[in-house]
Amino acid sequence: MSEIALRPVVLPAPIPVRELLPWAVFGGLMLLMAIYFIGAEEGATSLMRGTYVHEFVHDGRHLLGFPCH
Ligand SMILES: [Zn+2]
Repeated sequence: MSEIALRPVVLPAPIPVRELLPWAVFGGLMLLMAIYFIGAEEGATSLMRGTYVHEFVHDGRHLLGFPCH
């Protein structure tokens, strides 16, 4: 007889798509907003007055290779 005690197998709990979908949509919208503010919030496509948003995301804009100046 063996002296080794077997550990119980712990399996990850599956996440139903029905619970995951709202978070995926929310994350997708946040990603699209980030891409808009970093990539297109300037000049004719600007939704906000001034250059505050552009200056706030300016480094990210250059990091991601969007054309700027
Ligand atoms: Zn720039």
